[in-house]
Amino acid sequence: MNPSSPTVILGGGFTGLLTALHLCHHRHSRPIILIEQSDRFVFKPLLYELLSGEMADSQVQPRYEELLDCDSITFVQDTVQGIDLHQRQVKLASGLHYSYGHLVLALGSTTNYFGIPGAEEYTFAFRTGEDALSLGRHLRACLQQASQTDDLERRRTLLTVAIAGAGPSGVEMAATLADLLPQWYHKLSGSPEEIQIFILNRSKEILKGDINSHLRQVAEKALQQRTIPVKLVTEATVSAIHPECLQYKQQEHQKTIAAATIIWTAGTAVNPLLKELDIPDRLRDRSGRLQITPTMQLPDFPEVFVGGDNATLAMMLPATAQVAYQQGATIAYNIMAMVQDAPLKPVKVTLRGTLMKLGLGEAAANLFDRFIISGRSGHLIRHGTYLELLPTPVHNFKATVDWLTDEVFSRHSHPNLSNQPSSYLVQRLGDIAAVLVVFSSGALFWRTIQPSLFNQMLQPTGLPVLLDQIQQNQ
Ligand SMILES: Cc1cc2nc3c(=O)[nH]c(=O)nc-3n(C[C@H](O)[C@H](O)[C@H](O)COP(=O)(O)OP(=O)(O)OC[C@H]3O[C@@H](n4cnc5c(N)ncnc54)[C@H](O)[C@@H]3O)c2cc1C
Repeated sequence: MNPSSPTVILGGGFTGLLTALHLCHHRHSRPIILIEQSDRFVFKPLLYELLSGEMADSQVQPRYEELLDCDSITFVQDTVQGIDLHQRQVKLASGLHYSYGHLVLALGSTTNYFGIPGAEEYTFAFRTGEDALSLGRHLRACLQQASQTDDLERRRTLLTVAIAGAGPSGVEMAATLADLLPQWYHKLSGSPEEIQIFILNRSKEILKGDINSHLRQVAEKALQQRTIPVKLVTEATVSAIHPECLQYKQQEHQKTIAAATIIWTAGTAVNPLLKELDIPDRLRDRSGRLQITPTMQLPDFPEVFVGGDNATLAMMLPATAQVAYQQGATIAYNIMAMVQDAPLKPVKVTLRGTLMKLGLGEAAANLFDRFIISGRSGHLIRHGTYLELLPTPVHNFKATVDWLTDEVFSRHSHPNLSNQPSSYLVQRLGDIAAVLVVFSSGALFWRTIQPSLFNQMLQPTGLPVLLDQIQQNQ
């Protein structure tokens, strides 16, 4: 292999971006080329916050140019069209070709419509920042039209949302909209009780077979406690989607829901580029994900590493962000080990529990499958955890500060607490304690990975000295 052959990373999501940042941070000796179709990294678990306006665009989907502050990474905004594993070459939509010494496949997944007629054409997907923003624009337009029409049937359709799929995305979406739409409609002088939100599920139970199934009861309760209770339709198989109409089968009966907004959260499919790779079916799982070795390599192509939603290991892991970003760190380590002829290490992923947004300012945290914390405390834990994961410490710090300002100074008012001064005080003290925990762990995290930058930027605040003193006293 040519010693100057670059390390090419395909896809700048959780796996790809984290691989690139780790390689850069550890001064990888080869050029790093990150190829990604979008100009922004998308922190998918926070897309609901982008839709609702709880978090800003720059927080949920920061631009790569802000995140990749590293001379050894070349960012190429382009779409990968083909990968030749034998020639070690990648072809891009622009016509450019890149040869690689090492390749990282981190292209994520796409939406699965299961061939249901009309599903792709007439539903909203929810995977990208643009999906979240265009859904928000559409919902506002529906509410606006509803507030101005006297036609009862039309208003009912405009005010109805149907969500296909009661997995985690469907449940989080339903819970968010069931608090958000009444707020938006109220501002237009509409009657929020006219809004209907349906969530359709094929089986009897929501979150079935999902890593979040421990949160089923909390989630079911939360769906009923929203500003508008969510209508759960179980054992419903969606059979077709038409403009403003969802058709489903339930106990042999064909039924329909007239809804101006139909959201598809029912399935995930493997990235189509993976299907075209010269890899036999015996080295894939049923959904087409690629089997990898414990060191995250393709069995027949050791120079190719695969992670996140593209990979399947002997130990089944859920397709989640927490798996993807931990795998990114191992991939970076192993690529550098290969370059230095050092031993590679097997990937070790720690599942830390799950988090679900269950309404505005409400969430549930399942910590290590042992404790469930729900409501507002769950919300603080969810946000604090995600802020820890945001991709670079500087971004983390900025998002943390922005978020803390909103929480402490309460941009979102809580009318039910305003008449109870003592519980309000307890709630505020609890929030401030949680904020301090999040803030100090964020600061320590930042200092651990970038000590010189941390000291340089925060010296004037006295924080580095304070942290030193605290650590000496421990
Ligand atoms: C709405 C939603 C909510 C979620 N919530 C959670 C959650 O709460 N907790 C959790 O752990 N996980 C959650 N997930 C799952 C999690 O986001 C994924 O498992 C994770 O993003 C997978 O990481 P990845 O690196 O494999 O792929 P991704 O993060 O999806 O990154 C893939 C990247 O590849 C790029 N790409 C794709 N095709 C091409 C191409 N042809 N050319 C160039 N670039 C390309 C994409 O633009 C993308 O940036 C959620 C997912 C969604 C959709």
